[in-house]
Amino acid sequence: MEFQFLGGATEVGRLGMLLRNGSDTLLFDYGMLPKDPPLYPMKAPPVDRVFVSHAHLDHSGMVPWLCGRHDTDVVLTPPTSDVADLLLEDSLKVADAEGYDPPFDRSDIEATRRNTRAVDFGDTVDAGSVEVTLHSAGHIPGASMFEVNGNQTVVFTGDIHTLSTDLVKGARPVPCDTLVIESTYAGRNHPDRLKTQHQFLEKIRAVNNRGGIAIVPAFAVGRTQDMLLTLAAGKHEVWLDGMGKKVNEIYIDYPEYLRSAKKLREAMHRVQVVRSERGARQALEGDVIVTTSGMLDGGPVIRYLEAVRDDPRSAILLTGYQVEGSNGRRLMDEGIIELGGADVKVRCEWQKFDFSAHAGHDELVRFVDECDPQRVVLMHGDNRQALAEALDGREVVLPVEGPWYPL
Ligand SMILES: [Zn+2]
Ligand SMILES: [Zn+2]
Repeated sequence: MEFQFLGGATEVGRLGMLLRNGSDTLLFDYGMLPKDPPLYPMKAPPVDRVFVSHAHLDHSGMVPWLCGRHDTDVVLTPPTSDVADLLLEDSLKVADAEGYDPPFDRSDIEATRRNTRAVDFGDTVDAGSVEVTLHSAGHIPGASMFEVNGNQTVVFTGDIHTLSTDLVKGARPVPCDTLVIESTYAGRNHPDRLKTQHQFLEKIRAVNNRGGIAIVPAFAVGRTQDMLLTLAAGKHEVWLDGMGKKVNEIYIDYPEYLRSAKKLREAMHRVQVVRSERGARQALEGDVIVTTSGMLDGGPVIRYLEAVRDDPRSAILLTGYQVEGSNGRRLMDEGIIELGGADVKVRCEWQKFDFSAHAGHDELVRFVDECDPQRVVLMHGDNRQALAEALDGREVVLPVEGPWYPL
């Protein structure tokens, strides 16, 4: 076997990995880097199948390009299929609003729908000379790892989390010869999750007690549901706005992919949903608003930021990674955000909480040890060396985008 990265080996984003076994070539993930304008991976050759680990656009964002050109079959879980469809449609709207040409159009998204082969965890797909089995990756509901069985066993993790959250159970190790593993958090560990949840709820209580409101920007997929589950433990009046509303409905349709569908349903029933202008005004009278976008780059969060930015009693509580150049990152670094085309100073409080859905450094090391491969291929990270050094005694490969590597 041999593999090649079309993107996303040395950075977090635009992931795509080809795996060749004899005359069979499989593609794992095919995403983009959602910047303005987005960055894309190298062009994929015609392949029969693409295995999509999960819906986040850095893993799925270029799949329509592939289906429209090469009639490729798409193997993924049902929730990944539905959520990816939503995000891909939205990416066309974003391209339109930002004024750049997307690499695919609506007919390519339709081709993706036609070519979708939805499979469940534990199912095995016959892919010529190899068989591919899906396992839960614990990252977001429906996120898969792929176990490829040929003359050796190769596991491709996509994005993984090994600790259980209220939303999904952590990934279980899969014994293999070669482990291709993400390394987003190489060299960094997360603070204790329960402590973070406690501090988050305490902060909201303090903000409300001084007469303010907490704005909680959250990614629609995974993080919004995480936040609703966390907030279910408090007594606040919570409002929900943005694309997370639709993602909730999709997840509820697939209870077997959730740690507890009952808990998510209860958490959803506790919140009030913004459905109109009037609702948005009412939400500002409440205690907490959970809304997209998670990095303050558009979406309904903008209107709420405008409402609170001059109010020192209120707070913006960031809940996810803030990419370089995003509004959220500028808030953290400079105390400034762009609103309506102008840079404005933010006078309310802001704070970032680490609710990451990725395994931290120590968890990655433990996961490698439990899978016990001879060879580890590190991808999806910009600090891979830190993880490589912690994997003493194993063959470690740090591929770059472009060349083929033998296995
Ligand atoms: Zn992801
Ligand atoms: Zn990712």
